[in-house]
Amino acid sequence: MIAPTSSRLGLLIVVSGPSGTGKTTLCRKACADGRAVFSVSCTTRPPRPGEVDGKDYFFLSEEDFLARIDRGELFEYARVHNRWYGTLKSYVFDNLRRGMDLLMDIDVQGAAQVRGCEDELVTRCLTDIFVMPPSLGELEARLSGRATDSPEVVALRLKNAEAEMQHWQDYRYCLVSGSREQDELKFNAILEAERLRSSLLITEDN
Ligand code: 5GP
Repeated sequence: MIAPTSSRLGLLIVVSGPSGTGKTTLCRKACADGRAVFSVSCTTRPPRPGEVDGKDYFFLSEEDFLARIDRGELFEYARVHNRWYGTLKSYVFDNLRRGMDLLMDIDVQGAAQVRGCEDELVTRCLTDIFVMPPSLGELEARLSGRATDSPEVVALRLKNAEAEMQHWQDYRYCLVSGSREQDELKFNAILEAERLRSSLLITEDN
C-alpha cells in the first residue's frame, strides 16, 4: 500500500512558448500557493523596469555567464533574442530532491537540452508544456502592448516566435492561449494531474 502521506520527488515542469503568450505570468501564479517554485534563470539581457536581480533573473555580465558555462554550473543554456539565458544546476536538483515542484520558463533550445538529459532524477520528474498564442496577430498586439520593449525588440521576438512555434509537438502538452482565466484553469489542471504521477512517489525500493 502507498500511504497517503508518502513523500514524493518534485516535478520538473518545463514551460516554453513565444514571448508574449503569458507563460511567465502562468508560472509565477502557479508558484503563489507555495507548492511550486519558479526557477530563476541567469541572463545577460538588461533588466526591464521593475525587474529585480535574484527574483526575476540573475542579471550577469557576458563574461560571468561564459565563465559559469566553463565551470559546468549550468543545467541548460541557450542564446535567445541575441542574449544568453541559462538555468543553474543547483536550483534544479536541490528542489526536486526535497519534493518541491519547479517551473522552468525556458526557450525551445533549453527544453531540448533538458529532454536530452539522461540523469535519472530528471527523467523521472520531467514534464513539459508549450504555450501557443491564438494567432500571430494577437501575439503582436500583446507584445506591442507590453510597452517595455522597443519596436526593434518586438520585431525580433515576433520573428523568433514563428521558429519557436515549429516545436510545439515536442511537448507533452500544448496549451492554446485564450483568456487569462481559461489559461490558468488549464495550466493548473495539468499541474494537478502531473502531481499524481506514480514515477514521483518515493517508496522503500526506489
Ligand atoms: P525574456 O527576455 O522575455 O524574459 O525571455 C526571453 C526568452 O528566454 C523566453 O522565451 C524565456 O522562456 C527564455 N528563457 C528565460 N530563461 C531561460 C533559461 O534559463 N534558459 C533558456 N534556454 N531560455 C530561457
